[in-house]
Amino acid sequence: MTYNYSERMAKMNGAATREILKLLTRPEIISFAGGFPATQCLPQKEVQQIAFELLSEGRATEALQYGTTEGFKSLREQLIEYVKTAGIENQTLENTLVISGGQQGIDLMSKVFLDKGDCVLVENPTYLTALQIFDSYQAKIVGVDADHNGLIIDDLEKKIKKYNPKFLYCVSTFSNPTGKTYSVENRKKIAEITAKYNVMVLEDDPYSKLRFEGTPVPSIKSFDKAGNVVYLTSFSKVLSPGLRVGVAIGNPEVIRKMTIGKQGVDVTTSNLSQLIVAEYLKRGYIFKNIEKSLPIYRERKNAMIAALNKYMPEEYKYVNAEGGLFIWGEFDAPINTVELAPEAIKHDVAYIQGQVFYADGSGLNTMRLNFSNATVDRIDAGIHRLGDMFKTEIAKLKK
Ligand code: PMP
Repeated sequence: MTYNYSERMAKMNGAATREILKLLTRPEIISFAGGFPATQCLPQKEVQQIAFELLSEGRATEALQYGTTEGFKSLREQLIEYVKTAGIENQTLENTLVISGGQQGIDLMSKVFLDKGDCVLVENPTYLTALQIFDSYQAKIVGVDADHNGLIIDDLEKKIKKYNPKFLYCVSTFSNPTGKTYSVENRKKIAEITAKYNVMVLEDDPYSKLRFEGTPVPSIKSFDKAGNVVYLTSFSKVLSPGLRVGVAIGNPEVIRKMTIGKQGVDVTTSNLSQLIVAEYLKRGYIFKNIEKSLPIYRERKNAMIAALNKYMPEEYKYVNAEGGLFIWGEFDAPINTVELAPEAIKHDVAYIQGQVFYADGSGLNTMRLNFSNATVDRIDAGIHRLGDMFKTEIAKLKK
């Protein structure tokens, strides 16, 4: 049989990271590769209790039947309240679509706006799976330069003028992969300049609630006067990724189009999951769970920073994130993290090579480390192994 695949599959050869992730089932490997929440931050008891109640009461039918594509009104009302914590006020049910995780929001936005060859601007580097989704819509992906304050506004404007993009995609708070947060000023300018040139923004915010240090910043969406920003957030990192519940907030016309797009994908986000999240929010559990999780993440992040300081060669420079799940770093030396990733596995430790997050394939000397899913002892041991490996490589370069 010859399989005549669609053109869109041509660029989609799967995550470069998949081979590494496959190996991670070996328990002796210390993994800094994934982006999983800590197991003890998944509120098993509360979710079990809520699910039991939902399925015992007269509401069981509601949970087990088909539902509307927009999502339950009761959940959307809770979500309108929830996004106020990101500075997003005055939203209505028409602005609010329940999605099956933030990832679906990226896909729906692409489905609604992208034709083959259309341009999407992204921060260089950005979330790997977003790049894969844009590829699947055969978009032209163009990276915008960034510094510690956020996107370089001159570069953003230059690229808007040059490429006439359909939208800008960004992870503005505790970015995956860099852990960086855009300044308030940068957010205002992004909202202004994209509105001026009639460019949409897809603001992806799975991490802002995981802040261990510093002051919270309002979303780009909170500065949206033109209706050009679609804001995504998800309960994957603050409640459970297994429930697959998130929300898209945007202009009603755009949300309507995304709803039509969603109909053909999954009809509706799992009713049971939606009702669990609605009840979880209603009972005020979400902020309690976040409060409980933050010290665990803070401790693990600090353990990773301490270990990096102790074991890594001086050529390694990292970004100390104030929240999120990742530490991003690069080498001031021609260290190729793509080539060395399998070598690290031989030392029973895994990281993600930073190159996969660059739209233009650069970033060979960069590396993303996840700190949320390993204990403090394993973080120390794993970074020790990595440090030894990189020191050996740097010594070879100096010979
Ligand atoms: N966006 C970013 C930036 C992410 O890091 C992730 C998860 N790794 C997602 C979206 C997707 O998350 P989910 O679909 O589980 O909400």
